[in-house]
Amino acid sequence: MSPARKPKAAPAPAPLLPATTPRLVLKIGSSLLVDADGKLREDWLASVAEDVAAARAKGQQIVIVSSGSIALGARRLGLKKGGRASLEDAQAAAAVGQVALAAAWSRVLEAQGLKVAQILLTLDDLELRRRFLNASATIDRLLALGVVPVLNENDTVATGEIRFGDNDRLAARTAHAAGADGVLLLSDVAGLMTGNPKTDPKARLIRHVPAINAEIEAMASGGSGSGMGTGGMAAKLVAARMASAVGINLAIADGRAPHPLARHQSGEPCTIFSPRRSKKVKALGRKVWIAGRQRVNGRIIIDEGAVAAIRRSKSLLAAGVTAVEGKFARGDVVAVHGPEGPIGRGVIGYDATDARAIMGKRNDEQSEILGYAARAALIHSDHLVLL
Ligand code: GLU
Repeated sequence: MSPARKPKAAPAPAPLLPATTPRLVLKIGSSLLVDADGKLREDWLASVAEDVAAARAKGQQIVIVSSGSIALGARRLGLKKGGRASLEDAQAAAAVGQVALAAAWSRVLEAQGLKVAQILLTLDDLELRRRFLNASATIDRLLALGVVPVLNENDTVATGEIRFGDNDRLAARTAHAAGADGVLLLSDVAGLMTGNPKTDPKARLIRHVPAINAEIEAMASGGSGSGMGTGGMAAKLVAARMASAVGINLAIADGRAPHPLARHQSGEPCTIFSPRRSKKVKALGRKVWIAGRQRVNGRIIIDEGAVAAIRRSKSLLAAGVTAVEGKFARGDVVAVHGPEGPIGRGVIGYDATDARAIMGKRNDEQSEILGYAARAALIHSDHLVLL
């Protein structure tokens, strides 16, 4: 083909600015809220509140995920290492700092005529489907009432495996629960860089990440730049992956100067991650939630016929079940194993006792055994995900 006839590559469409989406989760890192001495950056915070009020006035709904409780509490308690010398210190600092943090948010947002709500979450609040739906309904109601919810992890009670650990992941999970369209992670870095700007003069900002691949992963290493938060770029990439999987736009942006939201709404350079959009985003959201859970409550062993059926997107019927293991309640997530091993997980429609009672039985035999009208399936296909 002659060069003249070579078809021109269509210019890549400009990515949607997450900061402008109708329902936005705005995550604010500790290093933005608090200066190096652990003091609240009052003027900066007031500028954020002005931006939020302007956005609300235009109809945009905003959920704030705010870090800073540990840093603020550490200063009040005179703890070293910003309150992160031990878990006990961090938990005590968070308990003290969270009061100050919530007071600061309510002060600046109320000055703009906005109502404020505080929500403190632990991992289980979004890991357990019923609690996830509950949190989701509450956030929805607050937004409809014109309230600005301000969230943080409940650091004082969360330890080890029950922690989100960083507010970047919390922001992505919150966006999913809140049905948000965008997440803006405000931090003390410009975004994802090709290298470390301190040591590599050629390091440049990646403006758009259409898909997270190995090359992108390699660019994100090391911990938090300020040493104040726990995030760092690796945690931000995990958050970007989580958001992308459920169709949510996410940006990592420099929030240090005043009016960070307004600046990013007008297109200031940052790193934007495009989601893996899918028509099935809603169903996928539930399935991603199921797949993303860290714990399962029991195990259902099924025969070859049932394996073949669920591979064809059918529901899992009790007739194909050969064993029920563990203790679980209706609505818990259980692992599903075939004769060869694990094949998936799903939200079960019965508790362990009833599941055991009807295993191997046809649907028309189940109601009599149970003493109430049996459900059409043990795990409905909408609540079943193959891994
Ligand atoms: N939840 C922690 C705090 O409020 C911050 C976690 C993080 O650094 O991402 O201090």
